[in-house]
Amino acid sequence: LASRDFHPENTVISIKGVNIGGDELVIMGGPCAVESAAQIDEIAARVKAAGAQVLRGGAFKPRTGPYSFQGTGVEGLIMMAEAGQKHGLLTITEVMTPEYVDICVEYADILQVGTRNMQNFDLLRKLGTCGKPVLLKRGFSSTYDEFLNAAEYILAGGNPNVMLCERGIRTFESYTRNTLDLSAIPVLHQLSHLPVISDPSHGTGRRELVVPMTKASVAAGADGLIIEMHTDPDNSMTGDGVQSLFPDQFADLLKDLELLAPAV
Ligand code: PEP
Ligand code: MN
Repeated sequence: LASRDFHPENTVISIKGVNIGGDELVIMGGPCAVESAAQIDEIAARVKAAGAQVLRGGAFKPRTGPYSFQGTGVEGLIMMAEAGQKHGLLTITEVMTPEYVDICVEYADILQVGTRNMQNFDLLRKLGTCGKPVLLKRGFSSTYDEFLNAAEYILAGGNPNVMLCERGIRTFESYTRNTLDLSAIPVLHQLSHLPVISDPSHGTGRRELVVPMTKASVAAGADGLIIEMHTDPDNSMTGDGVQSLFPDQFADLLKDLELLAPAV
């Protein structure tokens, strides 16, 4: 079902007037984690003012160590839903387990599957019947074929609204957190009809690389970007402050993108 042979036309996912996979470049911006109501409200205002369409923020965080901050959970979900509504933004948040799918469906417009869960087949099956669009991140050591098979699980369950997200893969290079595989963008467009989103934040792990890799992703044909932005990145509650743009940088980047790909 994910294959372009089966479905030659691009899939366009329409959510409350935003079309993902069509002519419009869709920008999702916000913090790694929802930290407080004030934090997500302030960031949402900056995301909206910059011209982005979607507010990102994790309430349930997949942390490498069990003693790190694990997210604000359901409270965070509610805080983000309120900020999204107030500022007129769609919302996207990560869901880590099948048990939390229903509550995430209640509060978010798009559900994100993180890189570590790309092959969590029980989760993928549950998302097949959840009724909301899903952004599926590529596993950091997964091939395109494995990635598309993971998408297939969601599609096979009856949910046609899946976005594929390249977020960097593990290579021998350690200067960057991951290696953003730009080739994935045109390859996935060749192999599949699903929208392709790029995540230059996790793809590089370094703030100064987010701007050039965003532009490169647009040049390679990405349908959208998911970008971390924080009003106080040095004090963020996850380690991802180092890869988060400052609000002014985020706004400048979106202005540059308009020149690169004029809105239609
Ligand atoms: C995130 O988006 O904050 C995240 C945890 O992403 P990934 O699953 O790509 O590491
Ligand atoms: Mn993050």
